[in-house]
Amino acid sequence: MAIDTPARIAVIGAGPVGLEAALYGRYLGYDVDLFEQGETCQHVRQWQHVAMFSTWRHLTSPLGRAAIESQFGSRQWPDSNTSPTGREWLETYLLPLAQTDLLEDHIRTHHRVVSVLRTEHLKTDSQVDRRDWTLRLVVEDASGGESAIDADVVFDTTGVWGQPNWLGAGGAPALGERQWHERIVRWLPDVLETDRERFAGRRTLVVGGGTSAATAVRDLLQLADQERQTHVTWVHRRPRREGPAFLLTCDTDRHRGISRFLEQVQELEVSGHPALEICGESWVESITWDSQKWRVVLGGHCEQEWEGDHVVALVGYHPDLELFRELQVDASPVWECGMAMAKWLEQPPAQRPLGAAAVGRLDRGEPDFYILGAKSYGRRSDFFYWEGLLQIRDLFTRLGDRADLDLYASYESNWDQLGT
Ligand SMILES: Cc1cc2nc3c(=O)[nH]c(=O)nc-3n(C[C@H](O)[C@H](O)[C@H](O)COP(=O)(O)OP(=O)(O)OC[C@H]3O[C@@H](n4cnc5c(N)ncnc54)[C@H](O)[C@@H]3O)c2cc1C
Repeated sequence: MAIDTPARIAVIGAGPVGLEAALYGRYLGYDVDLFEQGETCQHVRQWQHVAMFSTWRHLTSPLGRAAIESQFGSRQWPDSNTSPTGREWLETYLLPLAQTDLLEDHIRTHHRVVSVLRTEHLKTDSQVDRRDWTLRLVVEDASGGESAIDADVVFDTTGVWGQPNWLGAGGAPALGERQWHERIVRWLPDVLETDRERFAGRRTLVVGGGTSAATAVRDLLQLADQERQTHVTWVHRRPRREGPAFLLTCDTDRHRGISRFLEQVQELEVSGHPALEICGESWVESITWDSQKWRVVLGGHCEQEWEGDHVVALVGYHPDLELFRELQVDASPVWECGMAMAKWLEQPPAQRPLGAAAVGRLDRGEPDFYILGAKSYGRRSDFFYWEGLLQIRDLFTRLGDRADLDLYASYESNWDQLGT
């Protein structure tokens, strides 16, 4: 059933995918409101020092570029085959996009969505057509005031970066972890610049087996080459020499920077470094801060007690399911994405071509409520923004009930073609 314009769409989260979804809706004449808990692209701001794997070719949409050019005049875009840092992505594309007339007055920063519900119906009301009742957001502003916002359609694009996983055995909190939670570094630190003083000449324990942990280790070792006494212990669960977990499921052709990164990590693991100790097939049993040093008991292959200055936990993220607890939304017990999405993601990358329609795998059971972007992948860490664009394009074909609707094709340049 078509949702005719100017129906009201509420987008939760003004990250890259929320901005693109709101823009697409505005171009089509929907009444769109975008709610952001912090500043626009709050999560990307937190890792902006990182060199991205994707090239520019896969980091803008044709619609976004057209909106920026019609607002600020034509511009020289970067070489499409180079990769930016998060900061360059923000400054060159995402923030100008947010400042276009199409979006600027529709973004409410410092408005955190606390819950999404259906008025008049409880989650447990299953014998009714839930579509008959309005979707509502409960929104908290910067002063703590709350308001209720009704919408015809809701997109949850809140990402996963705000919910880091625990360190301990089985993914639960390690003994002592909840007590010292605030002291543990749970984001990728900028050890070569902003956070340099803090890490130089110190002993750091990095926990995690994915690309973020590997990036932290690589950067800390570069710091160790310049600042003596800097030492890194890298704890992860995977067997040594297997490569960071996420890279095994990644389409390395599409994100060329990944192959180069993988080579660097493998070289580190094979040749070693005097300032590095690697503890594979290991995990954290307990953690204590004695007001001067951390004491961390490791279990598994590297059973030992480690003592040092910083603990950096980069063990993945999970989606906030609490936000839609009162809706009837399905979730895979393994990945916490939708069941249809989990089934699709279980196939190797080559067998899930990007051109295939995304909309079926966004169905979660609750009518007119959709989870897009990084959060649509749940606990998986192999989401890329480019896939978010496909989700947006395909979802609007359903909302508009027009199979041939494709605004990206209308604005496409020779720079990009979705699905290539
Ligand atoms: C270190 C790193 C490197 C990466 N490199 C690449 C790369 O090279 N290529 C690539 O395609 N992808 C990369 N990614 C993945 C990248 O995060 C995504 O492609 C992109 O940021 C996903 O956008 P999103 O809008 O889905 O989520 P996010 O960027 O996480 O944005 C979610 C937004 O929602 C807001 N929010 C959260 N909760 C609420 C709430 N309750 N109410 C209101 N607002 C809320 C947040 O503040 C945030 O602004 C990388 C990620 C990391 C961490």
